[in-house]
Amino acid sequence: MVKKINAFDMAQIQFDTVAKLLQLDNEIAEILRWPQREYSFRIPVRMDDGRLKVFQGFRVQHNDARGPNKGGIRFAADETLDTVRALATWMTWKCAVADIPLGGGKGGVVVDPSTLSTNEKESLCRGWVQAMWKNIGPRNDVPAPDIGTTPQMMGWMMDEYSRLVGQYTPGVFTGKPVGGGGSLGRTEATGYGVIYTVREAMKHINLDPKNSVAALQGFGNVSQYAAIGFVEILGGTVACVSCYDRHDKKAYTYSKKGGVDPRFLMSIVDQYGTVDKQKALDSGYEVTDGDKWLEADVNVLIPAALEGQITGDTVKKVSKNLKLVAEGANGPTTPEADEVLKKNKVFVIPDFLCNAGGVTVSYFEQVQNDANYYWEKDAVLRRLDVKMTAAFNAVYQRSQEEKVYTRDAAYMVAIDRVVAAMEMRGWLTGNA
Ligand code: GLU
Repeated sequence: MVKKINAFDMAQIQFDTVAKLLQLDNEIAEILRWPQREYSFRIPVRMDDGRLKVFQGFRVQHNDARGPNKGGIRFAADETLDTVRALATWMTWKCAVADIPLGGGKGGVVVDPSTLSTNEKESLCRGWVQAMWKNIGPRNDVPAPDIGTTPQMMGWMMDEYSRLVGQYTPGVFTGKPVGGGGSLGRTEATGYGVIYTVREAMKHINLDPKNSVAALQGFGNVSQYAAIGFVEILGGTVACVSCYDRHDKKAYTYSKKGGVDPRFLMSIVDQYGTVDKQKALDSGYEVTDGDKWLEADVNVLIPAALEGQITGDTVKKVSKNLKLVAEGANGPTTPEADEVLKKNKVFVIPDFLCNAGGVTVSYFEQVQNDANYYWEKDAVLRRLDVKMTAAFNAVYQRSQEEKVYTRDAAYMVAIDRVVAAMEMRGWLTGNA
């Protein structure tokens, strides 16, 4: 694992770079560099052994000019207010670039969920809602799953909110289980969304999907469906997948001659993203150091784990044949590494464009909750493809017109849309 850089510093550096390119008014920049609201709270939970344990919770609402704040809740041992701020900020840009009428938010709890029993998880989820329910809701802030949280947890949280307000309110959380207000296709949405943008990018860099070879980092929800989509939708090969082993407390890279079988790996991964090493070895997989994925001889890299993984140091190890980086994770590439990728003419599909599929289907889920009418899976995925393709094209076109890096172009598209909404609402006159 590489040393983590402060994600919020990164988010602000990225924003400042583009604010300068856009010659954005300083007063507007001052609003957008920081979240509008931040909540920090303690959640007491009665543990199974009878002890009371108090957890640290967060919710950050970055900007709601375009609509209710939207974004996941992470349960992670190293969560901080700054990681949540960064992720909330990226959600504003993500919803704007995907052109869905939502703002940006993110939540977190400092906890390793694999240390909790089912009962303790449920209490912690309900406790999070008891602390925050007055400040969330279908019309002001709609949380969802992220790393360490699941559809079942969203079901408990939605139930707690509904009890507190005295009314069944499915639209307050998205990513709920199917049959409990969830949308078909939500599980696949982020990973397949990554693949739709990869498909579009390949058209512009002359990469035949059938001859493309990818290495992925992470094997949680995003990476699992990105790997499946890479093989089944694009017809490409996944050379290897790197993921963290929670028992050994280190990462391993799983590879196989001729490519890995994502559906097989999915059958031997636990709910926390740890692959059963022995079963992989028994099935002919090679298991090497966790950083090997980055050095693999591939033309596509899909970092789909945590922020700050491709750094000024690690970027030096990537293959000479690398043509495309598709950021399934939020913030996987540091500004220093960006400079190197830019110089080497590697096409980067920036995080908040690449992984916008999850929040896009979350938006569809809310629409279905409001209408109390549920769509077929095909219809969900078709509409997702339309949204992702349009978002990709808007960013690609902007990068061509302005002759800028794709990340900067994505920021330009997003910032313009958010500023237009702020102007339209009169936020910049000082009277609002
Ligand atoms: N947690 C996901 C993200 O980072 C999805 C957010 C949502 O569905 O609201 O985009």
